[in-house]
Amino acid sequence: MSRTEVAGLHGAVIAVLTEWTDRLTRAAREKFPEKVTAFRPEMAVHGRFGSPCPVCGSKVERIVYAENECNYCPKCQSGGRILADRALSRLLKDDWPRSRPN
Ligand SMILES: [Zn+2]
Repeated sequence: MSRTEVAGLHGAVIAVLTEWTDRLTRAAREKFPEKVTAFRPEMAVHGRFGSPCPVCGSKVERIVYAENECNYCPKCQSGGRILADRALSRLLKDDWPRSRPN
């Protein structure tokens, strides 16, 4: 990853975390949060494995690790690459697809 990519990623992380901190702080001021959840309808890909990306319509992919999973759009967020999933890439080894056929 280049210095420019790292700077871009850092900026995006700060912007998204700031936006969500503000959003959840505002919501908690209005009403005490009764239901604590990490899945929110405003989130683009989190918790949406297999659903269409709201930006480009590609199927949201996932990386499974321990009991957690991370969701991403392979078109908007990884430049068309299917990211390594520890469980699946171990199983598939050389058959691991670099991208998903459309
Ligand atoms: Zn997308």
